[in-house]
Amino acid sequence: MTPTRRRLLRLVHLLTCLAVAGAALAGCGADGPAAASGPANLEGGRALRVVTTIGQIADAARRVGGARVQVQALMGPGIDPHLYRASESDITRLESADVIFWNGLHLEAAMSGVLERIEDLGVRSVRVSDGIERARLLTPPEFKGAYDPHIWFDLELWAQAVATVRDALIELDPQGAELFQANAAAYLREIEDLDDYVRARSAELDERVRVLVTAHDAFNYFARRYGFEVRGLQGISTESEASTADVQELGRFISARGIPAVFIESSVPDQGVQAVIAAADAQGHAVIVGGEIFSDAMGEEGTQEGTYLGIIRHNIDTIVSALARA
Ligand SMILES: [Zn+2]
Repeated sequence: MTPTRRRLLRLVHLLTCLAVAGAALAGCGADGPAAASGPANLEGGRALRVVTTIGQIADAARRVGGARVQVQALMGPGIDPHLYRASESDITRLESADVIFWNGLHLEAAMSGVLERIEDLGVRSVRVSDGIERARLLTPPEFKGAYDPHIWFDLELWAQAVATVRDALIELDPQGAELFQANAAAYLREIEDLDDYVRARSAELDERVRVLVTAHDAFNYFARRYGFEVRGLQGISTESEASTADVQELGRFISARGIPAVFIESSVPDQGVQAVIAAADAQGHAVIVGGEIFSDAMGEEGTQEGTYLGIIRHNIDTIVSALARA
């Protein structure tokens, strides 16, 4: 069988698997067409093909991999990973990747079945959260026993995810080991410096106003590390809709606490936050939109907010300048 024909068969098989209802894809995978597993053949100097889900992971792969990787993020600016479904072209990209990096903590809820199935078909798939000690992960009671996936907002935890990316790249492309080690070390130093910056900026705020109200509960790790209280209108995942009662309750909370500003998220429609502002207003408390922050998606490529370090810096600067007005 020619390599092209084998790839085609694998793709057809995968698409057939995906057409089967829900997550129960019994019979697909292990007994499917033979999968070409093992390390990528990088002879001829071609770059390692890396596919990621969110941009934050793509950024880590680009920074660590340098010129030895070609990275593609499936979820661009403004895309909500909780709701994102893989398109047919995504499947093709995933299928022809040397390695796939994804969060793995139920962040990619609507496409986790695809990502797991790809793995069964022999494409190397790495959950970047795997290297993090489970005891350090948050287990919000309302998230059905799953871990909170928004680990990139605790910079120390994210450093461990970067190390997982580095180790996987070394395993797949041992000749690049020295470069990957050096790139990762430089990137990790920048993450550490930014961690200090976020901590210092957070400390500028009076404890009374260190309250972050956003569209969904993406900032619990941020809260734990940098001493904030957080309230999200929607839960840990945007899969569940906020009710009118949720809006009223959050409006009352903002009013009672005298919170000056709330924040919209680039990957979540802002109607919910606007409704909360109206609810607080009805209580006689004027609250403003403190700005747009980046939660689950990054900004446009080529801008500062198109990088992981850029969104973290943008967020803390936006949060502090809006809340410091109180
Ligand atoms: Zn989220």
